[in-house]
Amino acid sequence: MQPKQSIVSLPVYQPGKPIEEVKRELGLKEVIKLASNENPFGSSEHAKAAIMKELEHISIYPDSFSTDLTAAVAAYLGVERDQIIFGAGSDEVILMLARAFLTPGDETVMADETFSQYRHNAVIEGATIVEVPLKDGVHDLTAMLAAITERTKIVWVCNPNNPTGTIVRHAELEAFVRQVPSNVIVALDEAYIEYVTDEAFPDSLALMREFKNVILLRTFSKIHGLASLRIGYGAAHADLIRMVNQVREPFNTTRMAQAAAAASLADTDFVGGCRDRNAAGRAYLYDEFDRLGLHYFEAHGNFIMVDVKMPSAQAFDGLLRRGVISRARWAHHPTYIRITIGSPEQNEAFVAALEAVLTEAAVLG
Ligand SMILES: *Cc1c(COP(=O)(O)O)cnc(C)c1O
Repeated sequence: MQPKQSIVSLPVYQPGKPIEEVKRELGLKEVIKLASNENPFGSSEHAKAAIMKELEHISIYPDSFSTDLTAAVAAYLGVERDQIIFGAGSDEVILMLARAFLTPGDETVMADETFSQYRHNAVIEGATIVEVPLKDGVHDLTAMLAAITERTKIVWVCNPNNPTGTIVRHAELEAFVRQVPSNVIVALDEAYIEYVTDEAFPDSLALMREFKNVILLRTFSKIHGLASLRIGYGAAHADLIRMVNQVREPFNTTRMAQAAAAASLADTDFVGGCRDRNAAGRAYLYDEFDRLGLHYFEAHGNFIMVDVKMPSAQAFDGLLRRGVISRARWAHHPTYIRITIGSPEQNEAFVAALEAVLTEAAVLG
């Protein structure tokens, strides 16, 4: 058998370790997973009720056009219905963008480090990856602009950036988008936008309305707490959405996902409550990291990247033995771990475990 050359040595995505596996391997009763930026407060009760209702119809294919959810999201954003496309998570929208636009010889520009799926899908399509180092954990838009050539098809801006949690602000993003050639797609991945409380965060909708080459990527996996249902979307000019839609599978989202997403979008109390509780958890963790003398990046999503002053794999193992699953082994941040902001109880358990790990490694006196 002869697969496409591009996939032969493709690294396999390493998901956060599953809770059940850790419990079994280490014989622990209590394990908390702060590895995948899932919502520690679960999901909207209205979303669950909507899923129960859809159970009646699971033998029938879903609505290929997600008609009701499209109307709800279009109203929420204040855009037309033909400006929205849904995917099995925004991961699939990233895949569709790559599939629709990238061929061997094309270039695609992204930060290093950033969300792994831009690179992954571009590699599969045989495109050339142009990675631009972060500057103090933040996208270096000046350098990214300079990296654009005649071959560039897509530039990815992850805002807030995963894994660092930092943001680019409105003025600099607007200046960047103005200078990007109009034939180059600017993919603004805003998976964590609902968590953002910084007033200078970009008005990305305004940018998307003005620039036909800007696409926003959003998801129901993070603040909406529907990660297991797999639903996210892209929002852009109708012409761009039409092109991406050419490669969409007809039934790429499920009835349950569509119904739950619409119900969750309407549950502004749930989403607002999660945002507030996340901000409180972030303040708590900032204080604790300050007390422990640890550097962290400004966190605008529901996760924080913190310097644990030892090889991150060592901290990961130490935390795991104490029942906390974190994320480690970042190529350019070898002593940093990424931790999801959890519930107050989870955050306290994490800090206690971290303090023990730091003491064990003699990082703390
Ligand atoms: C989680 C995440 C996504 C996608 O999540 P889906 O579950 O596929 O919607 C996209 N981008 C970033 C930066 C993420 O962290």
